Amino acid sequence: MSAPEASDPIDDFLASRDPTAWETSYNKKQCPDCGGLHGDTASRCSVCGWAPAAE
Ligand SMILES: [Zn+2]
Repeated sequence: MSAPEASDPIDDFLASRDPTAWETSYNKKQCPDCGGLHGDTASRCSVCGWAPAAE
């Protein structure tokens, strides 16, 4: 992901994050990459293929 001329603070905020874990939304797992919602048993995003980083 790159946005060479973007100086939007929201983009900066998103770019500075390191999405290694699920977001949650409406008690579901939400992909931090594409925003796809998944059930609690999901281990990776079936939409974009993102998976949480292994610790
Ligand atoms: Zn995704």
